[in-house]
Amino acid sequence: MDGLLTLLLYAGLFYLFMRFGCGAHLTHGHHHGHEKLKDKDIFIDPVCGKQVADDEGYGELVDTKLFRFCSKACLEEFDENKAELSKKPKVIHPKNN
Ligand SMILES: [Zn+2]
Repeated sequence: MDGLLTLLLYAGLFYLFMRFGCGAHLTHGHHHGHEKLKDKDIFIDPVCGKQVADDEGYGELVDTKLFRFCSKACLEEFDENKAELSKKPKVIHPKNN
């Protein structure tokens, strides 16, 4: 009966994997690729709180998250306190409604 048990286990894991995989894709589905003509992503400078567009200022990638800074001074300060500052949410998506 080991074979059947293994099969059930795999089926269960596969089911969970599909659920989580699907959920993850849905969460990321809100991004609109790299169109820059309109609806630019606005980033919040985590150091001074200023809004920085994705083609302005300075950027740094931490893990898979992009942070943007209004000035090099802010970028340098972020580098010094990266562990703390990189936890805050940064991106504002313009809403269409
Ligand atoms: Zn700044």
